[in-house]
Amino acid sequence: MTSIFPPSTTFCGLFWVTLFCLFGPGCELAPLNGPEVEVVVLGTAQDAGLPHIGCAKANCELARAEGRREKVSALGVRGHSGWWLLDATPDLPAQIQAMGSLPDAIFLTHAHIGHYTGLMYLGREALGSHKVPVWCSQRLADFLRKNGPWEQLIKLQQIELHILPPNTPVELEPGLSLTALPVPHRDEYSDTYGFQLQHQNGRSLLFIPDIDQWHQWPRQLTDFLQPDATLLLDGTFYSGAELPHRDLSEIPHPLVSSTMNQLETLPQLNKATAWPFQIGFIHLNHSNPLWNANSDESADLHQRGFFVAREGMRFALSHGPVAKLISTPPADTDAP
Ligand SMILES: [Zn+2]
Ligand SMILES: [Zn+2]
Repeated sequence: MTSIFPPSTTFCGLFWVTLFCLFGPGCELAPLNGPEVEVVVLGTAQDAGLPHIGCAKANCELARAEGRREKVSALGVRGHSGWWLLDATPDLPAQIQAMGSLPDAIFLTHAHIGHYTGLMYLGREALGSHKVPVWCSQRLADFLRKNGPWEQLIKLQQIELHILPPNTPVELEPGLSLTALPVPHRDEYSDTYGFQLQHQNGRSLLFIPDIDQWHQWPRQLTDFLQPDATLLLDGTFYSGAELPHRDLSEIPHPLVSSTMNQLETLPQLNKATAWPFQIGFIHLNHSNPLWNANSDESADLHQRGFFVAREGMRFALSHGPVAKLISTPPADTDAP
C-alpha cells in the first residue's frame, strides 16, 4: 500500500494566517480533529451548481429567491492527523472554510470543470499556496502539466502533483485508506476515478459522482454493498423527463430511477430486512426534482430506501454509531 503519511508539514502558520485573511475577520474556524474519522459532504450539485447560470426554471428560481447556493459535489475526509479534500470544485474556498483549515492533500476525480478548477484558488492571484499535495491519475497529471493556468501552479510550486495509481490503496493515515477506481466517463482531457475510502474497522464509503453507465464499468456495485458501507452515487438526472429535447442515449449518466431499479434486482436489496448499508445520490443537476424534498420523486426514492446527499451530512468511519439515514426497510420486496 502506498502511504502518504506523515501528513504534509507544508501548511505552516503562514497559511493559517493567509486562510484567515481570505475568509476575513470574524470567521470561526472549527477544530481540525474531531473524535471520529468521518466523511463530510461539502457539496452535492453537478459541476455548475445551483442556481444554474441562465436557468429560470423552478429549482433555480427558488434557490435565487432564498439566496441559496448549492455547492458542487465534494467530500472532506477528516482523520485524526488531518483532512483530505476529494475534488477541487469552483466552491473550494467555502468548502475549505467549512472544514476549518487547509486540506493536507487534494484528490481529483477528473478534468471536468466541477472537479478540478478549484485549484485556481491556490494560485498567485488567490492563496499562493506552497506545495499543496494534489493526487490524480497519470493522464490528469499530464493535462495539468501541459496546460495553463495549471502548469503555472506546478512551476511555482503552489501544488505538488502525485500520481494516484488505479486500484491501489493509498494510506491517508494508519487505519484509513483511499483507493482510486477507474470509471467510464466522457474523457476529453483526462480519465475519471471514483474513490473508495476504507477504515480498518471494516466501514467504507464509495464516492462516484460521475460515470457514464453502470454496465460499462467492469466492477459491480455488489462488490461494495458490505455491512456498514455508504455509497454516494452519480445522481445527476432523475429521469429523462428533465431533458425533453435530448436523446437519452446521448446522456452520459445513469438515471437515478434506472439505478434504483437496477439495484433493487440485486439479492442483497431484494429482501424485507433493513439493509446493512446505505445508498445515496450526489452530483445532482439543477434540473433534478430531488432538489425538492417534497417532490413525488423524493418521496418515491425515500420510500424505496435510498437517500439524497445533502451538504453538511457526516458519515462516521471509525467508531460510534453509523449515521443510518435509512430507518425503514424497502417496502416492496418484489420491486423490478
Ligand atoms: Zn461532474
Ligand atoms: Zn464529469
